Amino acid sequence: MTKIRVLDTGTVNQIAAGEVVERPASVVKELLENAIDAGATSILLDVGSDMAGITKIRVTDNGEGMTADEAILAFHPHATSKIRDIADLSAIRTLGFRGEALANIAAVAEVTIVTRPRGGEALAGTRIVVRGGEVVEKSEVGAPEGTTIVVERLFYNTPARRKFLKSRNTELAHIYAVAESLALAHGEVAFRVVQNGKERMATQRSGGVLTTVAGLYGADLARSLIPVEGRLPFIRIGGYISRPSENRGNLSQISVSINGRSISSRPIAAAVREGYGTLLPKDRYPVAFLELSIDTGLVDVNVHPTKREVRLSREREITGAIAAAVEEALAGHDLARETPAEP
Ligand code: ADP
Ligand code: MG
Repeated sequence: MTKIRVLDTGTVNQIAAGEVVERPASVVKELLENAIDAGATSILLDVGSDMAGITKIRVTDNGEGMTADEAILAFHPHATSKIRDIADLSAIRTLGFRGEALANIAAVAEVTIVTRPRGGEALAGTRIVVRGGEVVEKSEVGAPEGTTIVVERLFYNTPARRKFLKSRNTELAHIYAVAESLALAHGEVAFRVVQNGKERMATQRSGGVLTTVAGLYGADLARSLIPVEGRLPFIRIGGYISRPSENRGNLSQISVSINGRSISSRPIAAAVREGYGTLLPKDRYPVAFLELSIDTGLVDVNVHPTKREVRLSREREITGAIAAAVEEALAGHDLARETPAEP
């Protein structure tokens, strides 16, 4: 007997799940991204919780849906409709491409999917229940076009991971943060977030980030923002930044999307701050909602399983262009005139 063995698929998936599915908010991120990739214009996230934590995550979309065969395949590791080979990665437009999220989530939870293809011939949809990676139920059901996925009993079979979950409110805060950043990057979708029957967040389908900002953070902030614009041959900069008087103690309110993917990037956030120069006190940071379109060939999204970080070619030029665009936007704006009058 040899001491070395090849792990079975279930074990492999549970281990892989550790990278992608860190907490309930990771599940939310993957499900919302799938709904966006499916071309949904309306997405509902319904979170159930009790004193102990998050009990249920349900995402309903009106996207392209799946046939019965596709729905089964979707739970296989490395099964994706989004790329064919590594070359496709350099021109990636979808949020997903690894084909791992559903397999990973289903390895550590109980997942129920109800789906029906858009414009398909079948009148009925498909309902599949997967528990710990095994399909335990499959049936035909009446269903609207689109997809509903319910994730329950997260980490039921991985107690170590379950132990690391924080309080219910902390997990909820992470979930809302994920939903907010996706909503900001996807004005083409109307998002609604409901928690234990109460609406927590709703955005309109507007296409404009300003409408989303108003919906999420209030009309006053949205009204006070200054538009930013910039263009180099390989990057287009758009979005809004705050007046210097609206500042924060950290970078967390600088939200950035690259080609529709909301990302976290210190160099880009630092470039935004740099554009303010001495208009902001030391150690203070602006609020910003930046939308960058960058040649897909310059953006490597395959850096980390959760894809929150990307690697940029020509990063110096890109951050330089951002700082310049911010500086220009502020210079072209009569900041004194817009300072709100004393009450
Ligand atoms: P990836 O998104 O990287 O392709 P996933 O495991 O998240 O991998 O999903 C696997 C496949 O299942 C997707 O490529 C897509 O074809 C299908 N799929 C998942 N969620 C949805 C959805 N909400 N609507 C339609 N198809 C979906
Ligand atoms: Mg996905």
